[in-house]
Amino acid sequence: MHDIDNPTPVGIRGSWFIAAVFMAASALAADEVPAVSPAQLSPVKKSALEWIDKSSARSNDLSDRIWRAAETSLKETQSAELLAKELEKEGFKVKRGVAGMSTAFVAEYGSGKPVIGILAEFDALPGLSQSATPTKQPFQQGAAGHGCGHNLFGTASTAAAVAVKRAIVQQKLQGTIRLYGTPAEENYSGKTYMVRDGLFNDVDIAFHWHPDSETGVPQASSQALNGVEITFSGQSAHAAGSPWTGRSALDAVELLNVSMNYLREHVPLSSRIHYVITNGGAAPNIVPDRASVWYMIRDTERSGVERLHERLLESIQGAALMTRTTYEIKILEAPWHVLVNEVGSRLMFSNLLAIGPPQFTADEQTFAKEIQRNLGIEQAGLASKIEPMRPPHPESGTTDVADVSWVTPTIGLTVATAVLGDPGHNWSTVATGGMSIGHKGLNVAAKTMAATALDILQDPSLLQPITAEWKQKTKGIVYKSAIPEGQKPPTP
Ligand SMILES: [Zn+2]
Repeated sequence: MHDIDNPTPVGIRGSWFIAAVFMAASALAADEVPAVSPAQLSPVKKSALEWIDKSSARSNDLSDRIWRAAETSLKETQSAELLAKELEKEGFKVKRGVAGMSTAFVAEYGSGKPVIGILAEFDALPGLSQSATPTKQPFQQGAAGHGCGHNLFGTASTAAAVAVKRAIVQQKLQGTIRLYGTPAEENYSGKTYMVRDGLFNDVDIAFHWHPDSETGVPQASSQALNGVEITFSGQSAHAAGSPWTGRSALDAVELLNVSMNYLREHVPLSSRIHYVITNGGAAPNIVPDRASVWYMIRDTERSGVERLHERLLESIQGAALMTRTTYEIKILEAPWHVLVNEVGSRLMFSNLLAIGPPQFTADEQTFAKEIQRNLGIEQAGLASKIEPMRPPHPESGTTDVADVSWVTPTIGLTVATAVLGDPGHNWSTVATGGMSIGHKGLNVAAKTMAATALDILQDPSLLQPITAEWKQKTKGIVYKSAIPEGQKPPTP
């Protein structure tokens, strides 16, 4: 494994080495990642990175405002508007309310090829409100909180897009920078609707990042998912007086769950099946005539989810037959799995190496250790290094970034904004995302994406091996959105 703290010089610098590593890639064993050297920070890149530093107070304030607003999926009115306005002020043309979602927007600057897309998420999670303190302490009791750090995500992406726009103006660069304001990542998979509506069709490459406890370019794929709500309908009756006249919709839900739990033994290890009962009836003395259950079924590839979905459908039919009930099925979300692009990842990694990981102070490390003490996990503080690159690998969990990656090469990084061992979707994630620890991660993410975009704008030939890899990996696979045809995004 290549030592990232002291990268071995490969002797080939600048834009050349990317093509060179790509040529060599086919000769490598599957578990090896080619050595990557830090990219050259050209004067154009340097001035873009300086601008990101100079405007960091503004970015941090923007991020904190989104953090405080903490709006959940498809209710991110203030958050989306904060980012859209910021971009508009910088001369971006902003289209709001795209793909049938009021909080989805596309902001664009420049013209012609290459078209570089940057994804920006900004939704929060219900019930996770938390102050920027090392102990569990809601900011506003019962409110939502940024337990996935999307306040940082959206703001860093916006800062990167503006930095690139400024370079386009100053250097008279040819090309388009486009910021995608993508709502509802946590629920409903907003990006899948934006992809289905063709909003990414002319994009040459898309960037994203995610707040994390580690800094790196993880080359992690994700699990494809079907979120399905099943509602059974039966016949209500007095549960003691005349139960024989009733048909219990709750019985159908329970029999479906029994069936799915037995199925667990016979699905591949890569599968995941989980559910919650969202309506189990009103009172035990009424035979429930309506009952609903919300399933999530996942696998490392879309085809695995499709096979699992067939079994779910058969179990639903079986449960309805056994209970003489009827059913309705609603697909709530259906993202694919992420397609990793190795050449693109190496380009981004070379910039991350040049920029370096967030530099945390002793006070920030103490703050982090206090969180870890309160979580009962190892007091390892915050990550201070860049993780080595791993070969592309599947990882548990789902993201709607996946659907973007099937229509255009998509590359992403993670930056430390949370404590090592952070469980994610937790009060601790919210705490560090609303203070200097998160701000430092935001800064590194913005710089890395901006620098990578500038590499491509200055030398569009870098796209050739990236696109070639994407074409080769998508050969024979027909991407089709898994959302039922004609289905509109939900309106929560
Ligand atoms: Zn997230």
